[in-house]
Amino acid sequence: MIPRTVFNAEHEQFRDTVRKFLENEAAPFHAQWEKDGQVDRALWNKAGEMGFLCPQVPEAYGGLELDFGYNAIIDEEICRLGLSGIGWGLHSDIAVPYIVNYGTEEQKQKYLAKCISGEIVTAIAMTEPGTGSDLQNVRTTAIRDGDHYVLNGSKTFITNGQHADLVIVVAKTNPEEGAGGVSLLLVDASLPGFKKGTNLEKVGMKAQDTSELFFDDVRVPAEDLLGGEGQGFIYLMQELPQERLGVAIGAIANAEAALQWTVDYVRERKAFGRPIASFQNTQFKLAELSSELTALRVFIDRCMELHYEKKLDISTAAKAKLLATDFQCKLLDECVQLHGGYGYMWEYPIARSWADARVQRIYAGTNEIMKLIIGRDLLKD
Ligand SMILES: Cc1cc2nc3c(=O)[nH]c(=O)nc-3n(C[C@H](O)[C@H](O)[C@H](O)COP(=O)(O)OP(=O)(O)OC[C@H]3O[C@@H](n4cnc5c(N)ncnc54)[C@H](O)[C@@H]3O)c2cc1C
Repeated sequence: MIPRTVFNAEHEQFRDTVRKFLENEAAPFHAQWEKDGQVDRALWNKAGEMGFLCPQVPEAYGGLELDFGYNAIIDEEICRLGLSGIGWGLHSDIAVPYIVNYGTEEQKQKYLAKCISGEIVTAIAMTEPGTGSDLQNVRTTAIRDGDHYVLNGSKTFITNGQHADLVIVVAKTNPEEGAGGVSLLLVDASLPGFKKGTNLEKVGMKAQDTSELFFDDVRVPAEDLLGGEGQGFIYLMQELPQERLGVAIGAIANAEAALQWTVDYVRERKAFGRPIASFQNTQFKLAELSSELTALRVFIDRCMELHYEKKLDISTAAKAKLLATDFQCKLLDECVQLHGGYGYMWEYPIARSWADARVQRIYAGTNEIMKLIIGRDLLKD
């Protein structure tokens, strides 16, 4: 085993608190939340009280101003327990950093404290029914009209879509332009003309609310433009490495847990009068998975260190997301196989993780888009 060096004693103390909280406040209820299609909103408020939401936010806005390692610990513990319904990662690692990094002083004062307490749940709405990977071609428009932008269009597959109170909407303020016409708007979900669609029925991540959103002449105050007009695409490119690293961190934590569940299972389960752990095929499979997992753990931890130092480049973050999520899916598939028929039963965590993990290769930029980014970087002049 290679000891991890990315976390210090304070991080590990925090991990214990997060783990206990999740074991008591989330794990016993997750099966019900899967049936409900969303977690209990009270979980967000409890997490806020515990300081688990947006740990990076500066003290000046009521935050703990901690390093990204604390976000990583929360992501790891959620994924280790297979609590895929909890959308804190989207809120703390992805959406809220846009407000911290590009928001005006007024926007930060208005929103951040409530994001930390769980009073406000955020979402980020990029994907549309007609475009996902090709973000420059979003068709949602936000056209300036006096002191407002008039927002029209629709989004789909939006995480936290049912719970969201505040949505960062990617829209064209200049529909004539490509990337240069894209802006970000902070949109209050209670504004007239903003409608949430039904909670989408998914193959996995069943307790996570994922929704369509519709905008019909929503008048968004001009002061809720996030950053500069036409700068949205640049902001997205700047923020995506943290999103992709977060996905990779969760993938590896979940893979580690799944491997352990499988080691425990093959020791217990017998076939032909002996534990299936005694078959060479079982040992070889586990050995191969464990070896790759060790290598990936070291790589992802190194990416985390680089991210602490603000040195994680876009291409390396894409490699982390690509390798970690491809491997997570491969490992889970092999582990389901080693569980036999029980591996296909929803009551087994391995089955749920297998279903939950599939989307990891699709969202936060598909793994094909990751390859495009890496390839372009290799071939640039
Ligand atoms: C559970 C879930 C949660 C999500 N959460 C969010 C969210 O919170 N916010 C949000 O905005 N979006 C979210 N998404 C959307 C997600 O980011 C998109 O589904 C993803 O970016 C892919 O877009 P698409 O579905 O339109 O696929 P498409 O872009 O239509 O791609 C279809 C296929 O074509 C491939 N492809 C596309 N372009 C190329 C190319 N140039 N070269 C090679 N192959 C290519 C893709 O890799 C893919 O295999 C979520 C999706 C899911 C399923």
